[in-house]
Amino acid sequence: MPKEKSDTTDFIPYGRQSISNSDIDAVLSSLKSDMITQGPAISIFEDNFIKNVEADFGCAVCNASAGLHLAYKAVGVQRGDVVWTSPNTFVATANAALYEGATVDFVDTDPDTFCMSVSALKAKLEKAKKNGGLPKLVVPVHLAGQPCEMEEIYNLSKQYGFKIVEDASHAVGARYQNKPIGSCQYSDACVFSFHPVKIITTGEGGMVTTRDKNIAEYIKMGRTHGITKERALMNTDAPEPWFYEQHFLGYNFRMTDIQAALGNSQLKNLEANIQRREQIASRYQDAFSDLPLGLQNPLQNASSSWHLFIVMFDNSSLRRKAFDKLQENNIGTQVHYIPVHMQPYYVQQGFKEGDFPEAEDYYSRCLSLPMFHGLTDQEQDRVIQTIKKVF
Ligand SMILES: *Cc1c(COP(=O)(O)O)cnc(C)c1O
Repeated sequence: MPKEKSDTTDFIPYGRQSISNSDIDAVLSSLKSDMITQGPAISIFEDNFIKNVEADFGCAVCNASAGLHLAYKAVGVQRGDVVWTSPNTFVATANAALYEGATVDFVDTDPDTFCMSVSALKAKLEKAKKNGGLPKLVVPVHLAGQPCEMEEIYNLSKQYGFKIVEDASHAVGARYQNKPIGSCQYSDACVFSFHPVKIITTGEGGMVTTRDKNIAEYIKMGRTHGITKERALMNTDAPEPWFYEQHFLGYNFRMTDIQAALGNSQLKNLEANIQRREQIASRYQDAFSDLPLGLQNPLQNASSSWHLFIVMFDNSSLRRKAFDKLQENNIGTQVHYIPVHMQPYYVQQGFKEGDFPEAEDYYSRCLSLPMFHGLTDQEQDRVIQTIKKVF
């Protein structure tokens, strides 16, 4: 349960990690163990994580950006391929394709879910089929923890022959059609982030889940230079006991045992964490029901993990007024996201303002309010009162 604070002027960030005493104990005992990287905690964390999200395989990595990069490689993305994602995401989702020399393009967002629009995807696929340039991979992003329409995207993948990697950086604990995000019911792989601002944390860290043994094997080797120490995977017949083989060009994208110990401990609190976020979300929804604020419209068959609570103002000057007013009152907010195609680096790649009007309109009016497990009712009331003063 959140602790009560008496100070009414403390800074409230838009997101913050919760570290319990048992989290600290878990890290301490990891530090005192023999192996502080690639030790036993990694596979324990992987096993518990996949139980939680109902996947067959889990690969812990040093962060979600590295996880996306390896997942794209594992599904076969290479130079000359085309990768599509949502413009409304963190740059990492798109960058991971550029590392491999692939071309990135975007599918505009849906004004209700703020996620990739399935009708825009359908239209873009039809056009690409005629003109060339069908994607090798599509990356839906579960924005704020709100699942995308995965079944429809999956059906399109069968029709047009593309792979699917979910960017689930926001979506640990989210559900779609009664299955956890991460089960990969409708995707080849799913990538989670454990950055402190996300739902559970390992400091820095990420996890790729999949149902495909080959993808899991590729990522587990790719995170450690493309090397295997598993006898069964080696080309050599009777390897010497010290032997290892490098099969392809990989990286050092490993998570440490210390981080995995923290992640495993954080995972135990996931359910309570999500429940608290649901409470906070419904308190915001009730408080704002009379205000001219737009909210993310959830899908019928899904539940959000509430990484973010996003409100939409009628126009950008009202949003700016709210941002400033909240800041004056020592309340931190953030804008998720500046559309990736509007970043100078992507403008250099040929994108321009106007390319994805829904995502741009969304960006001009959205604001993420404080939402985290440890937010107290009192703190939330301060946020609500301040928002009310904007109107
Ligand atoms: C945080 C985030 C990432 C990157 O995660 P890291 O673990 O920091 O590398 C990628 N995509 C989205 C949507 C994110 O929010």
